[in-house]
Amino acid sequence: MSVTEIQTSENLLKKIIAHSKEYGFIFPSSEIYDGLSAVYDYGQNGVELKNNLKDYWWKAMVQMHENIVGLDAAIFMHPTIWKASGHVDAFNDPLVDNKDSKKRYRADNLIEDHVTKLEGKILKEVTKAAKRFGKEFDHQQFITTNPRITQYQEQMDTINQKLKVAIDNSDLKQLKLMIEELGIVCPISGSRNWTEVRQFNLMFKTELGSLAEESNDIYLRPETAQGIFVNFLNVQKSGRMKIPFGIAQIGKAFRNEIIARQFIFRMREFEQMEMQFFVKPGEEMEWYQYWKEKRLQWHLALGAAEEKYRFYDHLNLAHYANAACDIQFDFPMGFKELEGIHSRTDFDLKSHEKYSGKKLQFFDPVENKSYIPFVIETSIGLDRTFFAILTSAYRVERLEDGSERVVLKIPPLLAPKKAAVLPLVKKDGLPEKARGIFDLLKLEFNCQYDEKDAIGRRYRRQDAIGTPFCITIDYQTLEDETVTIRERDSMDQQRVPIKQLSSQIRDKIALDKILQSL
Ligand code: ATP
Repeated sequence: MSVTEIQTSENLLKKIIAHSKEYGFIFPSSEIYDGLSAVYDYGQNGVELKNNLKDYWWKAMVQMHENIVGLDAAIFMHPTIWKASGHVDAFNDPLVDNKDSKKRYRADNLIEDHVTKLEGKILKEVTKAAKRFGKEFDHQQFITTNPRITQYQEQMDTINQKLKVAIDNSDLKQLKLMIEELGIVCPISGSRNWTEVRQFNLMFKTELGSLAEESNDIYLRPETAQGIFVNFLNVQKSGRMKIPFGIAQIGKAFRNEIIARQFIFRMREFEQMEMQFFVKPGEEMEWYQYWKEKRLQWHLALGAAEEKYRFYDHLNLAHYANAACDIQFDFPMGFKELEGIHSRTDFDLKSHEKYSGKKLQFFDPVENKSYIPFVIETSIGLDRTFFAILTSAYRVERLEDGSERVVLKIPPLLAPKKAAVLPLVKKDGLPEKARGIFDLLKLEFNCQYDEKDAIGRRYRRQDAIGTPFCITIDYQTLEDETVTIRERDSMDQQRVPIKQLSSQIRDKIALDKILQSL
């Protein structure tokens, strides 16, 4: 069947949000009470996709590496941990309010958005010139010699440099000055009527203990990493781990984000999949490069277009890092951070040694000495990855007969349902036959049985949730034990014996091949 894709880039974000709700992927939290800002619930299909993502990450990181083991630390931790990690003093965002719209922004984000606009102008010039010069176009020469582009580039470099200094020195006055000098306006009110820039700590505080006088302030963890650091020796000793080794963890993290917009990109309660890799001091840069490449491969192995991902090196290094980069994804709002890879030095373990008074060192039997290992961290947002998968998968297609279909081309490995079992009609023994096949397949795969409505409408429902296979049971099935199997993306239908169904679905999911390719 011939299919044309209908451009969805306009309003893609709105369409994804609406689709996610309509098909049980993501609901706004507490919706009947008008919602809770930047908090979301995962519905019946969302939870399956999310679990499949976790499973893929866990298998790739833990099952595939003999020297990486898992952990599930508690969300509540001793409050001193957050003093030692630097979060009490330094986990702040500089915020600024627009007095007219009453909207609150991160001052550094306003400046970064200004830089992104300049980047957009460069891209526009390049696209225009590439069109004009055709085959003759020399990209490198153009961006280094075109006066308009070099001017934009210089402006960007100067702004980035100034921003770095201001952030490093927590210079709030300088941030305000930059917003003024760059003439940044509020996207809502269009005015330049800004308050002073203030620091805002992102950790949620609560109390431990049943009586007020006994209570102790504690924090909801803003990252899962610290649970790994404080268990470093427990795991190393009980697992007899030798350096280099890693500890992986999946869990909730909480941040009182100032600007919580853009769907599940920036939430106040979210999930992280983090791995801390402990290495010998001096070897951290080698491992940093290794994990950068490994993690990019993990994303690309799912089959999304390569140009949707890119590395972005941090200009402003966090207090604990000596190198850091993001893997960015081209979300509907543009390229943004999906995963961070950080060389965290020995900052955390050293600091926990200092605050706890306990040694957190590895005894190296070869060198016959103890040392505090250095750490490479890979930290990926589960919700952002979910969002990236939806962004890549969402398509609207015009079919040969003029009708439209919305299809989620989710990698089969991650699809909430792997197959739908559909009796062609609701009579003559077809439902019973279909139930038999469903009961067989469900032992291995998450499947759905559906006998309601015409077969075409049932196919559309499965396309909309990304089910890779629709298995139809018809009259011929009763005669020769064969069914038709329709493939989601091509919509091709094949007749296959029932006994081949499992292996065909397994081949398409291809977890073993994907893991092997990493
Ligand atoms: P950003 O600069 O976008 O605020 P970050 O650099 O603070 O992110 P990290 O502390 O490196 O993020 O956290 C690791 C990962 O956790 C991020 O790459 C992202 O995928 C995810 N993450 C961080 N904050 C949020 C959030 N508020 N909502 C959803 N995911 C988040």
